[in-house]
Amino acid sequence: MMTIVINIIAFFLTYAFMEFTAWFTHKYIMHGFLWKLHKDHHIKDHDKKFEKNDYFFLMFAIPSFLLIYFGFEQGVSSVLLWIGLGIMVYGITYVLVHDIFIHRRIKLFQKTNNPYFKGMRLAHKIHHKHLTKENGECFGFIWVKKKYIKADETN
Ligand SMILES: [Zn+2]
Ligand SMILES: [Zn+2]
Repeated sequence: MMTIVINIIAFFLTYAFMEFTAWFTHKYIMHGFLWKLHKDHHIKDHDKKFEKNDYFFLMFAIPSFLLIYFGFEQGVSSVLLWIGLGIMVYGITYVLVHDIFIHRRIKLFQKTNNPYFKGMRLAHKIHHKHLTKENGECFGFIWVKKKYIKADETN
């Protein structure tokens, strides 16, 4: 019984920690020394379907895969498995919201009246108004500041 509780907590903590990791990575690494990989997400300078920026997805997918793989070998009560699943579910959320809902890489669920989703899109669009490595804002993602949720979406 106790293991189940610990695993559920591990799952949600991992999910929340991933939002922090995404924010930190975006602000200090993607807009830092790995800007060369993130740049084409701000200024698209090629017509390829995939961006160099997509490598970041792999950087998170690989540890998630390894944790799930080795966790499963230990059994479903392995905490490694639940940490791996937390990263994976965050990754799925990220792709659904960032790549599909906001950037429309696949034409699916674009319309919404939900103030939270609209706020999330607005905040990320503000992030994209900056085309350089420096002076960015709104690096977070699922955690949306209240002012964006209240604000009307203008674009
Ligand atoms: Zn950025
Ligand atoms: Zn983006």
